[in-house]
Amino acid sequence: MSWGTIATWRMADDGVHKAAALLANRGTAGDAVETAIKAVEDYPYYKSVGYGGLPNAHGILEMDAAFMDGDSFKIGAVAGIVDVKNPISVARKLSDEKFNSFRVGQGATEYAMLAGFERCNMLTPRAKKIWEQRVEEISKHNLDPYDGHDTVGVVSLDQFGKMCAGTSSSGLFMKQAGRVGDSPLSGSGFYVDSEVGGAVATGLGEDLMKGCLSYEIVRKMSEGLAPQQACDEAVYRFHHKLKKRYGKAGAFSLVAMNPKGEWGVATNVEFTFSVAANGEDSQIFIANMGADEQTIIEPISQEWLDAYEKRIKAPID
Ligand code: ASP
Repeated sequence: MSWGTIATWRMADDGVHKAAALLANRGTAGDAVETAIKAVEDYPYYKSVGYGGLPNAHGILEMDAAFMDGDSFKIGAVAGIVDVKNPISVARKLSDEKFNSFRVGQGATEYAMLAGFERCNMLTPRAKKIWEQRVEEISKHNLDPYDGHDTVGVVSLDQFGKMCAGTSSSGLFMKQAGRVGDSPLSGSGFYVDSEVGGAVATGLGEDLMKGCLSYEIVRKMSEGLAPQQACDEAVYRFHHKLKKRYGKAGAFSLVAMNPKGEWGVATNVEFTFSVAANGEDSQIFIANMGADEQTIIEPISQEWLDAYEKRIKAPID
């Protein structure tokens, strides 16, 4: 039986590696998704997810996450949750609830506390410093405040044919209080059906929501398209449509996998992702939009990885 995991951004690679080990040993897709995402949430140098994520305009780190089970269609999600170590685990637990399975703000945080999830001040001194500098820069130079966002989105397929998907994000850096992106929204940030496949998104939530692109990719796979073709068609068509009808299109990137472990990706910006499928260990690739609406995918170079490592750990003065 095939198995695999695909996830957004280079930051997901350690988690995908762990998920692959789990799946190779007959672990479940749900555990693979949660394991992969927790690895990103826990790593302090990733500025857009979990611990170390960048806060909103008021300096408060509000996080969004979701979990979906592709067998039962169960969904759990949180938005604007604060001071909780692993939002993805809270979202997964919520997916077992028949009612109240998508919780926001204080209700989400309270649920997590009552359910016994670990409380943690998620704002690292480094993230606080970046925020302070940004506040100063914005007021001095009258800049557009929004600078940076990335979501970890994961789709996994286990040896029993089950697929799950999950997302976790601190959303848009300097977002207004209570702003929620696409990541916890079914159909926009994620969607999975074990019989068809799954897709997850990263990018400007405000624009991703306009196209429900995760669902659109899964729908195209249900019509028989391979994941790559489904991604190319859904993403580039919508990119052009948005430019024409709305005037511009924010950055967005999606990854997908089907129950055979075949995968696909499409993006309108330079985009990295990690995938482990059918017995292969995790591998990082870089993708770009090609001129003919086909995604160009290349293995990542060591040079790129070294520069990335340096960039994320650069001292903040
Ligand atoms: N989609 C996320 C949001 O808009 C951010 C990102 O993935 O870049 O909140």
